[in-house]
Amino acid sequence: MTLKEMWSKMVARLEMTMQAYSVDTWIRSMVPLGIEGEQLIVKACAQSLLSTIVTSFQEKLNEAARFVDAPVKSVLLVPQDNCEEWEVKFASLDESKSVNELVKLIDDGVQKYDSVPLNPKYNFENFVVGSSNKFLYAAARAVADSPGQTYNPLFIYGGTGLGKTHIMQAIGNDVLLSDEKKRILYVTSEKFVTDFVTSIRTSKDGNSSFRKKYREVDVLMIDDIQFIAGKEATQEEMFHTFNELYQAGKQIILTSDRKPKEIQGLDDRLCSRFEWGLNVDVLPPDLETRIAILQKKAQMNNQNIDFEVLQFMAEKVDSNVREMEGLLNKVILLARVHDEKPTIEIVQEVLKEIVVKSEENITSEMIIEKVCEYFNVSKNDLLGKKKNREVVEPRQMCIYLITDLVHNMPLAKIGNIFGGRDHTTIMHARDKVAQKLETNIKTKVQITDLKDLLLRR
Ligand code: ADP
Ligand code: MG
Repeated sequence: MTLKEMWSKMVARLEMTMQAYSVDTWIRSMVPLGIEGEQLIVKACAQSLLSTIVTSFQEKLNEAARFVDAPVKSVLLVPQDNCEEWEVKFASLDESKSVNELVKLIDDGVQKYDSVPLNPKYNFENFVVGSSNKFLYAAARAVADSPGQTYNPLFIYGGTGLGKTHIMQAIGNDVLLSDEKKRILYVTSEKFVTDFVTSIRTSKDGNSSFRKKYREVDVLMIDDIQFIAGKEATQEEMFHTFNELYQAGKQIILTSDRKPKEIQGLDDRLCSRFEWGLNVDVLPPDLETRIAILQKKAQMNNQNIDFEVLQFMAEKVDSNVREMEGLLNKVILLARVHDEKPTIEIVQEVLKEIVVKSEENITSEMIIEKVCEYFNVSKNDLLGKKKNREVVEPRQMCIYLITDLVHNMPLAKIGNIFGGRDHTTIMHARDKVAQKLETNIKTKVQITDLKDLLLRR
């Protein structure tokens, strides 16, 4: 039984144990990536939905794995928009091998997958510089030229899909280029957390192998650091890791979706450490830069695409480079199907499909209306200043749903809808609900209900 075969059997099992609607919406789009230790790693859904998906389906997935006699104990769901680490890790996985062999590879002590290699495509050369990121680029170059000596830590923040992971790994790749002996460690903050938790659970020698891994490096890169918010023991460990590396003159690089101060639940001492070096933000690229990025990506794919076609695409996706790249890939694919060069018509065809397919063709107005109806509060109260619990909770959930379901809506804009609130207030409301979703069953039910109401076609 290969990995693919095992997964199809699991899906067949899930069709028996879950509602058809849920299987269609959530399970069918999942992709099994590989096996690590006793876990099956599965690419699931957007990061923002992950905790809900985990609480709803984790047990069923584990059960399905047992049912089909998979050689794993559990399923680990990883977010679709943040799983490069895993994809890189399993890039060389031999798909024709049986799952039992895949597991054995690791049993044999061939720790093939332990350290995460950098993605070689994420280098400086492939990074297009424009006014939105020229400062970031200069800072990254300076750090790569003399790690540990210029900006330490380098803290990069900004919206999703804007090149934070790319530029961070570019620094690592560049350092290795000038000295291949340098020890570079790139992890996501989730990986740091799991490594730490595992080290506590399994080691008898204090967590010395964990410390060795994280403290004996020349450059430590932790991606999406915001996810350590609220995890106190991990933060404590990170604090010591930070101090030791810093004092030894080793370089630390961090990314986040926001400034250190705006990360709720981040320890003050850690926050102030993060602010020591250089905090640099990355903004959505302007039109010229977007066109240049598309040109670069097309060239990397050996595609020769007319300027006006690139320009047309760049005009259609205006805030997220990752989405723009997705569009480009679909256009290239469709052009290949038609056996012609990408044209504006082809781009339009792809765009049409994207719009029709997205079930989340939902506006903030629709969400506000549904939330009012569901909780029986008036629109004025929901958007207004009242602070009693009966309106605060629905308001926070409404904000959460908007950030979750409405694409590309800037937080500041949501703030405006809600009576001119600040973007950090919006962020706070969103995080609060996200947190509650993990612990509070009532919140979970309410959010699931509301989503069902909104997504029903
Ligand atoms: P983030 O980590 O900020 O969410 P990523 O670094 O994963 O974003 O970038 C998403 C995609 O967009 C990657 O494929 C990356 O190569 C590409 N990208 C983003 N910014 C640039 C840029 N300035 N030049 C070239 N490619 C870029
Ligand atoms: Mg990233």
